[in-house]
Amino acid sequence: MRKNIIAGNWKMNKNLSEAKELIKGIKEGVLLEKINNTRIIVAPSFVNLLSVVKVTEESIIEVAAQNVHELNSGAFTGEVSANMLSGIGVKSVIVGHSERRSIYAESNELLAKKIDGALANKMEVIFCFGESLEDRTLGKQFQVIEEQLKSSLFHLPEEVFASIILAYEPVWAIGTGETATPEQAQEMHLYIRNLLKKNYNEKLSDNISILYGGSVKPSNAKEIFSKPDVDGGLIGGASLNSSDFLKIIESI
Ligand code: PEP
Repeated sequence: MRKNIIAGNWKMNKNLSEAKELIKGIKEGVLLEKINNTRIIVAPSFVNLLSVVKVTEESIIEVAAQNVHELNSGAFTGEVSANMLSGIGVKSVIVGHSERRSIYAESNELLAKKIDGALANKMEVIFCFGESLEDRTLGKQFQVIEEQLKSSLFHLPEEVFASIILAYEPVWAIGTGETATPEQAQEMHLYIRNLLKKNYNEKLSDNISILYGGSVKPSNAKEIFSKPDVDGGLIGGASLNSSDFLKIIESI
């Protein structure tokens, strides 16, 4: 049975002391009786990962990286490998965030290699994908999503999907304050599940967690998470404040 997951992407925010304060606030505020068997993941920047890993040891909070290089080592100045991340206790990594795709020109093909590299290091992948406003206006959203999934993910064998979390994030809803309606999110999540059923099988499609991301906040989280194929959220802005993040966690 698939799990509910709330993941916070801190992006390039919080210095060390701010990151420690945020993670302590989340850790102290998580009430086990209120989280309904939900996984909680936070993704700080690279430099703060180790400190956040230490603070969250022996808690239910898990730590993810926001990016990873596709290879394990080499002359790649400024890059970080999955081997390095898993070496400090980071178990998951976000791959394919729309900001990496658009600002750093990460292609579907490169993302496939990053996923392979992370999985080879036994890391879990939170794979992000989503259509642009133009794609949606042209009615191409389903075609774009299928292409993103096919070219980055569908080369993988069935058995590794236990280590994949999907995050549907329509680009037009990220950081814009504009949210997909719960119906739009449900429609796309069901489409994704059906694609997985067609390309793999029903069991895999039933078992995978599909998160929604795009301007989720305490005021809209409950309605979005109430949809049957939405298994939680990837949260940007509202994950930078422990009280908002905790409210979102509790609304699942
Ligand atoms: C994100 O960047 O993944 C995201 C969903 O951001 P926000 O919640 O701020 O829209």
